[in-house]
Order: sequence, then C-alpha cells, then structure tokens
Amino acid sequence: MCPTIVNNVETLCNVKHIVEMGAEQYTKLGTPNNTGTRLISLSGDVKQPGYFEIETGKVTLGELIYDENFGGGVRDGNGLQAIIPGGSSSKVLRAGETFPIGEDEVDLLDVPYDFDTLMKIGTMSGSGAIIVIDDSRNIVECLANLAEFYAHESCGQCTPCREGSLWMNKALHRMTHGGARTEDAEYLLHIAQNIQGRTVCAFGEACSWPVLSFVNKFKHEFEAKSLNTTDKETASTP
Ligand code: SF4
Repeated sequence: MCPTIVNNVETLCNVKHIVEMGAEQYTKLGTPNNTGTRLISLSGDVKQPGYFEIETGKVTLGELIYDENFGGGVRDGNGLQAIIPGGSSSKVLRAGETFPIGEDEVDLLDVPYDFDTLMKIGTMSGSGAIIVIDDSRNIVECLANLAEFYAHESCGQCTPCREGSLWMNKALHRMTHGGARTEDAEYLLHIAQNIQGRTVCAFGEACSWPVLSFVNKFKHEFEAKSLNTTDKETASTP
C-alpha cells in the first residue's frame, strides 16, 4: 500500500492564506456566504490568458475579461460572443444577456464572480475555469469540440451517458461537416434532456449541460446548421 494524497492547487492556495492570517480573518475576504479566495483560469479569446487569484465575489465577469489586471480584453479587437464561466460543463452565458439579481436587472458583464450568483443566473462557477468565446467563432463548432471531448471521456458504465454522448457528438459532427438533418437541433436537446439525472455520476450532467445551454441560447445558429444538408449525404440514424 502506498498512501497518496492529491490536493487541488486551489486548496493549497487557500490553506496558505488561512495559515498566514487565521481562519477568522480569511473568512472576511470575499462576500458573505462566498468567503475567501478563488483561483481563476482564464482562457480562450482574451489578450492575457492565465491564472488569477481573486476575492470571491469582489470581481465581475466583465472585469475578469476586460481589466488590464486580468484578461485585458477580447483579442484581435473582436466582440464578445459568449462566456463559459466554470469549466466546460458549466452552462454557457451569451453576451448581452441580463439577469434579475436582487431588485436589479444586471448585465452579464456586471455579474460578480461567486458561487451563489452564478447559480442564480442558471450556471455555476465550478472549477473557476472561464473560457471566453469571441464573435469570430462558429458557436456550433465550439460545442462540437466540447461534445467530442465528452464522448471520448465517458467511461461507458451507464447507457444514457455512453450512448447519448456519442449520439450528440455524431449529430454535432454532421452539423459541422455536412449531412445534418433538419431536426438535429431538437434532437440534441432531446438526447441531453434524457441524459441528465439518469446516470451514476455527474458526468451525465457535465456532458448534457453544455448541449442544453448552447442549443437553447444560440437556437438560430444551430437551426441554421441543421438546415445545411445539401452538400453532403444525409446522415443515417442516430
Ligand atoms: S455518467 Fe459517469 S459512470 Fe456513467 S457512463 Fe458516464 S462517466 Fe461513466
């Protein structure tokens, strides 16, 4: 037997602060109920991708993307199209969206980065891995990329995840390579809805939430791809 401990880097960062300042002082960082610090991994279409440590809830999504101390803005002068706020399984947020928070209607960029607020707006801060998608990206290809990863990673124990992740990957592949069917956008939603809540581990949600959120929030883009069936042969079921 070889005892092994695997620590999350974020945990080690938290411990360092707690040892140095004491637990009481540490919990004064951040905001009530969302105390302490978080490590943010900022990637995608920003000028300054990297790791950043923030006080939980004291920095907004807009600051994380545009502030010179963080992402420094969207690269190549492009506009913002979407944000994946907490790892690839978190539900995508569309630029220009607003959310009722307290008594206000808050723009996406003004949403504070903390656990509770992101949950309130229908997604999660999860791993703290923020992926920025600019408006030069084909959003269907972005989801196809994620779906390929999840189809590969499913361990195969549960039928909904094993089969569903492959079917979603297959549908997205034909939407991006030709041969899509007119019903493919709805088909994706149908599969994802039948995976979540029906699997042994949370991977079922992890692979279905991106599909549900991308297709629902970018319906027009996915429907347009579904209609693009003319150049290649129509795919067979599923
Ligand atoms: S949900 Fe988890 S246990 Fe089930 S097939 Fe997917 S990865 Fe395996």
